[in-house]
Amino acid sequence: MKNKIYNNLIDLMMLPGLSGHEKKVCNYISQRLKELGLNPKTDVMGNLWVSFPGEGPSVMLFTHMDQIGFVVRKIEENGFIKIERLGGVPEKSLASQAVIFPLENGNEIFGVITNKSHHATQQNEKYSVVPYKDLYIDVGVNSFEEVLNLGINIGSPVVYKPSAEEFGKERIAGTSIDDRAGCAIAIAIAEKLSLRKLGPPIHLVFSVQEEFNLRGVIPIAQQLLPDIAIQLDLILATDTPDMEDRGNVSLGKGPAISLYSFHGRGTLNGIIPHPALVKLFEETANQNSIPLQKSVHIGALTDLSYVQLVGKGVASIDVGFPIRYSHSSLEVCDLNDLILLTTLLEEVIKNIDKNFSLER
Ligand SMILES: [Zn+2]
Repeated sequence: MKNKIYNNLIDLMMLPGLSGHEKKVCNYISQRLKELGLNPKTDVMGNLWVSFPGEGPSVMLFTHMDQIGFVVRKIEENGFIKIERLGGVPEKSLASQAVIFPLENGNEIFGVITNKSHHATQQNEKYSVVPYKDLYIDVGVNSFEEVLNLGINIGSPVVYKPSAEEFGKERIAGTSIDDRAGCAIAIAIAEKLSLRKLGPPIHLVFSVQEEFNLRGVIPIAQQLLPDIAIQLDLILATDTPDMEDRGNVSLGKGPAISLYSFHGRGTLNGIIPHPALVKLFEETANQNSIPLQKSVHIGALTDLSYVQLVGKGVASIDVGFPIRYSHSSLEVCDLNDLILLTTLLEEVIKNIDKNFSLER
């Protein structure tokens, strides 16, 4: 299991998949599922899913395929490219980043997000962040026409140049660990489910446009109308010097559940998990001697916030793996957290029987 999760994760991290442009990621996952003898389906949004019949409350376990990035906004006469952001892009980590423009034909054009020459940087510029709208991308050409000839146009997607490095003791650094790690875990769970005899009905969903508006998954949730939704994504690690006041989540100390999330900037949404699911995860972790960390966090949320409101309401919980440096081009996770999270989810599914009650 460990090797498969590792290999699938590294492969997935190397695929560009800006929100709304998830095709390469979707094709890769679809291929892995077909190799397991499964018959994955897609909807008009691009969500990918596979269902496993069973008895008891139905479960939608889902994870998003897309990643943050940019869209080309303007091409200057001198060939520099201006961008619009897509998703929660950290502007302070953009200067000097390597990016790619994934083209329709499968090719990728390399680009550099510019950074004013240090030797010309004034004292008052040294400690300030250049907003994304003022940044340029250099694609190595000198004119508007040359940019078009590369296959880049207004609306073209742009992502961090994909990278994946193993370092330390089984830690991984690179692009879009959020949420290709969730995808790699879900593929491993699909393999287990393809061999099982008994259990609840499970829908494994690989969702789209999570980083865009958190709602790409809604049409498939409305179609499947699950009783339970388990969302698989990052949980913020708080064990770095700049995060230590924010919680008790450490990298390498196992999977985590979120007990409260809220995003006050515009959405007024978040998740207070269903108590039966909190108990289920705690008891299952205990039974299997899996350490389970807990997160409470304001300022981030997942597409689960909208799934919980579908149909007659869906019992919901966010579960995840600790991550450092989220949404930067070098996110960091620990392979062992991913493995323990996979085992935990497999065992949780086994513990959802016909009598599992969602009564409040
Ligand atoms: Zn995510």
